[in-house]
Amino acid sequence: MAAGQPRVAIVGAGMSGLCMAAKLRQAGFDDLVVHESASEVGGTWRDNTYPGLSCDVPARFYSYSFAPHAGWSRNFAPGAEIQRYFVGASADLGLRGHIRFNSEIARAEWDGRRYRLRTSDGHTDHADVLVAATGVLREPRLPDIDGLSSFAGAAFHSARWDHSVTLRGKRIAVIGTGSTGVQLTSALAGVAKPLTLFQRTAQWVLPLPQLPYSPVSRAALRAVPGLNRLSYRSYQHLMELVFGHAAVEPGWQRTAVAEICRSYLRLAIRDAGVRAKLTPPDDPMCKRLIMSASFYPALRRRDVHLVTDSITRVEPGGVRTSDGRLHEVDVIVLATGFDAHAFLRPMELVGENGLTLADAWQSGPRGYRTVAVPGFPNFFTLIGPHSPIGNHSLIAIAETQADYVLGWLERIRSGSVSTVVPTAEATSEFNSALRSAMPSTVWTTGCDSWYLGADGVPELWPWTPAVHRRMLASPVLPHFQVN
Ligand code: NAP
Repeated sequence: MAAGQPRVAIVGAGMSGLCMAAKLRQAGFDDLVVHESASEVGGTWRDNTYPGLSCDVPARFYSYSFAPHAGWSRNFAPGAEIQRYFVGASADLGLRGHIRFNSEIARAEWDGRRYRLRTSDGHTDHADVLVAATGVLREPRLPDIDGLSSFAGAAFHSARWDHSVTLRGKRIAVIGTGSTGVQLTSALAGVAKPLTLFQRTAQWVLPLPQLPYSPVSRAALRAVPGLNRLSYRSYQHLMELVFGHAAVEPGWQRTAVAEICRSYLRLAIRDAGVRAKLTPPDDPMCKRLIMSASFYPALRRRDVHLVTDSITRVEPGGVRTSDGRLHEVDVIVLATGFDAHAFLRPMELVGENGLTLADAWQSGPRGYRTVAVPGFPNFFTLIGPHSPIGNHSLIAIAETQADYVLGWLERIRSGSVSTVVPTAEATSEFNSALRSAMPSTVWTTGCDSWYLGADGVPELWPWTPAVHRRMLASPVLPHFQVN
């Protein structure tokens, strides 16, 4: 390619797509388009509007390092506030003019020189470089429960909240006790009369309280921007020191987190019978750790019922469990999670020699160091396969990946590179190293979770975020075929 501005298309204007677009703009890449299937930015923060939604990564760290926000109202920001932050950032960073809303890329095909793009409503576009920023947790997973469609009341998934449904005073069932079910339970306790929580598997809870930031501290952060940076770095250091290590290697961090969870359960739930029901069969962090100081208190309420008998079916009047009991309810909320392995779906991606991503990933999503895929030139992924997505700030991870992609784009703009694609050998070496590192992680200690791929291997990063940064600090040229 001759030196000059490559045309870059980003798929998705969620957290990572905006991150990439912002970095490209800052670096002077102007031939840039972000295709967004919805009518607003924000991705998962736009789609999830359920009561009690908040981010369990500290707000001062769950922000772009290049767009600090002094105005967070609490240490763990509410979902609506985070969504406002992304909308604001997209305007302040001059990105909105680059975003094509309601533009869903149905197909992207490499023609030997560039990608030809087709949207689901038939528009066409092209791109020299394609960046997939389509997120991980976007396809709601609906449970396969008999009779669900026969329910006479309102039933919906947590990520598709039906705001027309009145909740106060209603008999509400929440199915699922992941991060979402726990936040919902805390928020709906006292609103629902009663709230019935259906738990299939208990989960460990780390008691991190929601604390408001005072107007004084917000004013101080506005007045002294350095305080924001200090705060970001302090949280990053703390999160990486504790959670960055706890999940991936045995050590004091894992022991400490596990002990806090176990002690918290002992202290917060005094009833031995209830405690037994809430005691998970696996180790803390095997499933993604739940952060909540309000879940156990909610379960102590008389108008909150915990049901651990398995659900046999849903009937028009409610939820029937294996003990034969019908739990009569008016509303059913399915907090049953997402298909975390539906990377890029339903977009059809075609690379070299007609290779489709569906074929390349027949046995599961596999990439090169979380950012690229052999057979797909000039194609990069943000929060791609095996990204460090446990209890981390995905924003920090996306920034590392976007900086790496930017490095390649600088080479393309300078004309020294025309096409770049990771080799199959380097990718398979990387994936072998991943597999070898998995036994040290807590995710393989015997639980089922959305972390696990179809082959039972966690689709996560088995090292610390610092190793991710090191691996993506600069391209290892022999790992690529470059023209
Ligand atoms: P999840 O962690 O996958 O949990 C789904 C829950 O639904 C589990 O308790 C699961 O039980 C249960 N379930 C699924 N199918 C069921 C069925 N047929 N019958 C009964 N129970 C069923 O989903 P999530 O809570 O939506 O969270 C997903 C991820 O989203 C989180 O891990 C996190 O990464 C992210 N999230 C983050 C935040 C945040 O604050 N940052 C908030 C919410 C979500 P089993 O455990 O038995 O499978």
